[in-house]
Amino acid sequence: VPELPEVEVTRRKIEHALIGRTVTVVTTTPNSYFFITPPDTLERLLPGQSATRLERLGKYLVASFDSGDRLLLHLGMTGQLFVHGASSVRLLSATGGGSLTPEGQLAAFEADEHTHLQLAFRDGGPRVLFRDVRKFGKVQLLRPGEAATRLEKLGVDALAATAGDLLRATRGRRLVIKTLLLDQSVLAGVGNIYADEALFLAGVRPTRRAARVTRNDADRIVTALQQVLRRSIDTGGASINDYVQPDGEDGTYQDERRVYGRAGEPCPNCRTPILRRVIGQRSSHYCRRCQH
Ligand SMILES: [Zn+2]
Repeated sequence: VPELPEVEVTRRKIEHALIGRTVTVVTTTPNSYFFITPPDTLERLLPGQSATRLERLGKYLVASFDSGDRLLLHLGMTGQLFVHGASSVRLLSATGGGSLTPEGQLAAFEADEHTHLQLAFRDGGPRVLFRDVRKFGKVQLLRPGEAATRLEKLGVDALAATAGDLLRATRGRRLVIKTLLLDQSVLAGVGNIYADEALFLAGVRPTRRAARVTRNDADRIVTALQQVLRRSIDTGGASINDYVQPDGEDGTYQDERRVYGRAGEPCPNCRTPILRRVIGQRSSHYCRRCQH
């Protein structure tokens, strides 16, 4: 599931394929819950526009156009935003359903029924494709001055958060710290992988009541969180399931995970087997000896 690092890596790599290029043709799949703005509206309004900026806000990407329109993109659980010509087993395996050819022999991916948005450009260069097998991703076009309710609900970006921001959000809350960290209105951008990794590094158990997080804990959690997020950005993000970079490359952060998805494996600090427990309908991974 793409979280802050994967979305930031996507932003950095797709930026060059979007900015300064004039959209000529928009191709979509039939209307579905993937589209907050109906596909025919996107097909009508986007051509002729040219993106001037691409920002990341939490797990959202926001492209600003010269007309003042903004295009909001969310990768959901299985979203893949990439440049035509990219090839990856992650793009092909979900469609072909068959044998994977050795890397390097893979043909470039061609748009399929899961490719919900395709942007072609006046310069005739590579198209930009947004594919999402499970369709939990989102696309919304905001006209100039139109309120972006989804963005207004976001808390401070996790990379910019302070221990004070986290501590304030914990006061008087009955929920556990893990659930609080996943709340996008508290810290925007954090998801399951990085919450588990940060809590491990901070020595805080995911089941700890948020109200019992001390100033010192909040310091350690925010420091650890930003450390894992930055490290993941540097390694291209975590390619665990569907996530691919816009050029088809895999990230490698998954190789550095200490606890996430490692239930039963020895804790890297004390060798106690890592536990997996469902908290707030999400699996959490932790060491019962190192985290209190
Ligand atoms: Zn341990």
